[in-house]
Amino acid sequence: MRFPIENYIAKPGHILDLADMDPSATSYQKGDSRDDVKGRLKDLNKRLEELQHTLWAQKKHRVLLVLQAMDAGGKDGSIRKVFTGVNPAGVRVESFGKPSKNELSRDYLWRCHQVVPTDGEIVVFNRSHYEDVLAVRVLGLKPEDVWRKRYQHINDFERMLTDEGTTVVKIFLHISPKEQKRRLQRRLDEPTKNWKFKSADLEQRQLWHEHQEAFEEAISQTTTERAPWYVIPADNKWYRDIVVSEIMVQTLENLNLTYPEPEEALEGIKIGKI
Ligand code: ATP
Ligand code: MG
Repeated sequence: MRFPIENYIAKPGHILDLADMDPSATSYQKGDSRDDVKGRLKDLNKRLEELQHTLWAQKKHRVLLVLQAMDAGGKDGSIRKVFTGVNPAGVRVESFGKPSKNELSRDYLWRCHQVVPTDGEIVVFNRSHYEDVLAVRVLGLKPEDVWRKRYQHINDFERMLTDEGTTVVKIFLHISPKEQKRRLQRRLDEPTKNWKFKSADLEQRQLWHEHQEAFEEAISQTTTERAPWYVIPADNKWYRDIVVSEIMVQTLENLNLTYPEPEEALEGIKIGKI
């Protein structure tokens, strides 16, 4: 049975209220064993590998996945788990941190537009142009009359990308403040995670409601038929990975990918001895 990814689409024309979704929700039964769940992800990894192989061979479509979340929301982890097995030649992750001086001296879309997918590629934006209506808004880096106009720019930008052959999918990983606390604590406690800890994350945590409000408005204003936002319950990593994988697999399946025809007639060709 097909997994109903459409249940997680933020409907165009609706105002999103994140409080309506339980971040720890899953659509699996409690009785499902860990092995079933692991097996499901493995199957999805395999299927994504096949689809990406065809996408890369065909070089007809371009796919952009935009990933956004609160700090410690699981962007890095889901990229690692969902894209296990794909051919790295055709998949690229672009991470957007604080803009450099060079980037700030141009319009905010410039740094993102430069790295959109090429024919046959999947590109994951780990944070994205949305930071310019999220971080910029919450941190007060630009006045409201500047960032507010950006919803329209972003819709226009994404319309241009889709018109020109890019499939755009956007995913918000929805976690609870409790789960964020657990994950930040782990960054303090586990030596292999210490490098991820930034005390600035604790300051941002204090602005939880402001961040959530910024996400709600950004998602409501920019979820469209052609470039939809999916809001995924992401407290449970195993469930998050399955849903993100399902979205990628079904998005690629909808492209009806096929291998390209060989450039020359292959019949009768013999490879001679050396
Ligand atoms: P994690 O979620 O695991 O902590 P991360 O994505 O936060 O990883 P970091 O390098 O810790 O990675 O953070 C990147 C920072 O850059 C974030 O605080 C983000 O808000 C900030 N940032 C990204 N884009 C912009 C932007 N356009 N303007 C201002 N700040 C930005
Ligand atoms: Mg961070």
